[in-house]
Amino acid sequence: MHWPCASLPGADLRERTTLRVGGPVAWLLEPADPEQFREAIVAARERGIPMRILGGGANVVIDDSGLDGVVISTERLNRIFRPGDLSAEETLDEQLPSARVAPADPAEDPRLVVWSGAPLPKLCRAARDLGYSGLEKMAGVPGHVGGGIAMNAGGKDRDGTLWQMSDVVERIRVVNAAGEMEDIARHDWDPVYRDGRLGDAIVAGAVLRFEPRSKMEVAEASREYLRRKNAVQPVTERSAGCVFKNPDPERSGGKTAGLLVDEAGGKGRRRGDATISERHGNFLINQGAASAADVFGLIEEIQDLVAQRTGLELECEVKLWRGNGERAAT
Ligand SMILES: Cc1cc2nc3c(=O)[nH]c(=O)nc-3n(C[C@H](O)[C@H](O)[C@H](O)COP(=O)(O)OP(=O)(O)OC[C@H]3O[C@@H](n4cnc5c(N)ncnc54)[C@H](O)[C@@H]3O)c2cc1C
Repeated sequence: MHWPCASLPGADLRERTTLRVGGPVAWLLEPADPEQFREAIVAARERGIPMRILGGGANVVIDDSGLDGVVISTERLNRIFRPGDLSAEETLDEQLPSARVAPADPAEDPRLVVWSGAPLPKLCRAARDLGYSGLEKMAGVPGHVGGGIAMNAGGKDRDGTLWQMSDVVERIRVVNAAGEMEDIARHDWDPVYRDGRLGDAIVAGAVLRFEPRSKMEVAEASREYLRRKNAVQPVTERSAGCVFKNPDPERSGGKTAGLLVDEAGGKGRRRGDATISERHGNFLINQGAASAADVFGLIEEIQDLVAQRTGLELECEVKLWRGNGERAAT
């Protein structure tokens, strides 16, 4: 089958996830720029085959029995630019898909133009080195910009302040349902907690806006958030981040998903090499050779445990990519 970009039949996805669980997909596509990305999406849609988008694989559990259809990876779409004059629409049109951009004075125009596969840690480092504030709390969050926007990645401070990817977004560029590039301004985009609510739109890139600060301040704040994250999460283990969304605090009495799992006795539960972290009840760890069946089974077991104890249904934050030709959902 011919594809408009690099393509690998039967590629194994396991190593492309942070949990290290997954099997082969019929076709893995690796577009090298946003236009190839758009063409790959259109080609898959026109052929009517299931299509999924894979970013950094930091929030997915992939079936190891194999996936039908096509997975389009954003791995090669990893560019980050400083904009020139982005005031005119046509200038943005030229710049988002282009690698050749005249850098602006960082203090005068504290924005970055990113492709969807830019790794979040690389983006955080770039912002820190320019003295751009806004992503300090994302220090230590793996994945790609597109995945971060699709998931509206973020967190909550101890005082309850919510911070999320959408805080720094000025506009996103998507491949829309018609297969065309479309820019969506932040005020026309309505993301919610851990859900970018993009529908059929797929993120090709974005323009991000920051607050200029001193580089030292940004670096210090990033270090502090990384230190806090490392103190409570099993960051060096193989995981897919938080398994469950935090439930509505009104219904859970303000308890997080991790605390509910802990109180229900979920910490330390295991199936095969899949186990619930002793450190954080919302992290499922692959201790070596966990299978997708182990992971799916353990997730259901924990959901049952919490439901029996509290009556609350924990909703998955991680995306479960089940095989057997089930309907693909990005
Ligand atoms: C150690 C660890 C710590 C973490 N900490 C946090 C945290 O503090 N806060 C937090 O929110 N998350 C956290 N995560 C989860 C993860 O880092 C984020 O959800 C991240 O945004 C996922 O990005 P990704 O590119 O890896 O997405 P993937 O895992 O590749 O994909 C996730 C979903 O996004 C979709 N998607 C990916 N790219 C696109 C695109 N371009 N357009 C449309 N849809 C797309 C996929 O189809 C899938 O449905 C953590 C994960 C780990 C392993």
